[in-house]
Amino acid sequence: RDATAEIAAAHSAAPSLPPRRLSAIDAQDVSAWFGTHKVLERVSLSMLPGEVTALIGPSGCGKSTFLRILNRMHELVPSAALAGQVLLDGDDIYDRSKKLQDARKDIGMVFQKANPFPAMSIYDNVVAGLKLTGRRAGRDEKDELVERTLTSAGLWKEVKDRLRQPGGGLSGGQQQRLCIARSLAVRPKVLLMDEPCSALDPTSTRVIEETMTELKKEVTIVIVTHNMQQAQRVSQQCAFFLAAQGTPGVIVEHGDTEAMFSEPQDERTFDYVNGRF
Ligand code: ADP
Ligand code: MG
Repeated sequence: RDATAEIAAAHSAAPSLPPRRLSAIDAQDVSAWFGTHKVLERVSLSMLPGEVTALIGPSGCGKSTFLRILNRMHELVPSAALAGQVLLDGDDIYDRSKKLQDARKDIGMVFQKANPFPAMSIYDNVVAGLKLTGRRAGRDEKDELVERTLTSAGLWKEVKDRLRQPGGGLSGGQQQRLCIARSLAVRPKVLLMDEPCSALDPTSTRVIEETMTELKKEVTIVIVTHNMQQAQRVSQQCAFFLAAQGTPGVIVEHGDTEAMFSEPQDERTFDYVNGRF
């Protein structure tokens, strides 16, 4: 019997399974404290590969804290405490037997204020990202890395003729893209961005949004934003955080971005996405 026909028959007989959507980063029942001040209460969220997840909500509801928890930065605050789990591709990033550096190398982070090393060249700024992992690279590998990451960050064409100039000489939007390139140098699986565009002009913001849309094909992106239009433009999933007076932050609602903006399930989400508070 013809093998091809047999394989085809086997395929058509197989039940059609839903596409496998392993979450890249999974927060389960995460609660967080600063001293006795509880700032997050049992937050669970799965951030999927191929998607941008937007974290929205008023100031002080714990979005940045949550983002830092995903990168094990929360524990850098002496009084900070944490409960719950964060899994990266199924592995506990808080596993004590793993070095912090190893747990972090798959996760890049970009902050509100672009923070390149200002006196360091554009080239060396990118390579600095690699040094964080303690890895050594030859000249060719570095050249390739610099071109690849600056291209991914949408900055290559603008800087390829001035790679030896200091990173601090770039415009704000370019500096932010340089920071994105630096964070990509380790080939992270996840990129965490805390209000990356809130200090930028609309044009730079657009360029970064386009960069995110390209990047999400290879890196799972989580972005905190106060800009509701931006959340709708760039994200596929959205989580609305809220901390009612004197209570820790919770996720009120999460899900498909379009659905959340067009038909929010919770009245508080409706009010927030419509600019009522
Ligand atoms: P958001 O990013 O949503 O504005 P944050 O995560 O920055 O919220 O803050 C959540 C809460 O945690 C706030 O009440 C804030 O004052 C508190 N907080 C944040 N960072 C610290 C810190 N390092 N020490 C003590 N409290 C903090
Ligand atoms: Mg914040």
